[in-house]
Amino acid sequence: MAQRRVRAYVGLGANLGEAAGTLAAAIHALAALPDSRLVAVSRLYATDPVGDTDQPEFRNAAVALDVPAGPDLATGATFLLVALKGLEIAFGRQARRRWGPRELDLDLLVFGRARLAIDRPAAARSRDAVVDPAKASRLLEVPHPSAAERLFVLAPLADLAEGLIPAGWHESVASARRRREIAEGPTAVRPIAEWDRVAGDWRPLAEPAST
Ligand code: ADP
Ligand code: MG
Repeated sequence: MAQRRVRAYVGLGANLGEAAGTLAAAIHALAALPDSRLVAVSRLYATDPVGDTDQPEFRNAAVALDVPAGPDLATGATFLLVALKGLEIAFGRQARRRWGPRELDLDLLVFGRARLAIDRPAAARSRDAVVDPAKASRLLEVPHPSAAERLFVLAPLADLAEGLIPAGWHESVASARRRREIAEGPTAVRPIAEWDRVAGDWRPLAEPAST
């Protein structure tokens, strides 16, 4: 029997080391997850740090993946979250404070029509629970609870699915993006490259003509 599949959106972020290269390598790793298919890659954005502003600029992007739905959506989403946390560790993510700098952050933004708040197995718990115990007890929440309030998530997600209304939201991704752009300003999140499928790497965008 053909396995049921679901469209998932994953947000990527990094601000330590060669961040754009890390995100490109992470995209290859996501494409190589068992039974998953890379459907689309957003533009790459340079973004100002939010919260703890005394740290390097971030690079952010998002991808659309087709993955197995699992026996039920909660199991399927947990399986993907465990894979994401494993990749964060493989890419050298260290236990650090919340909002702080990171080698690689992978967030499960949307998992089909699923709306979940479930306990995670230990493997899906944050590395950062060591320094921030509040994190250890956090649920897996899908759609990602702060996605609607972060322009650095909404801008790349809108590249992939501007008309999408994630489960539990009352607006589309495009409208949330416009709302946050007004709040955060037009320069907080800046597209700098697009994904070249053939090269499997970022291709810099032409600088806007200066007048
Ligand atoms: P954030 O990405 O929100 O800045 P972290 O990635 O450092 O913060 O930690 C997020 C915590 O939330 C981790 O414990 C992670 O397992 C958990 N979590 C809950 N829901 C999700 C989700 N949808 N995607 C990723 N992590 C999640
Ligand atoms: Mg995260």
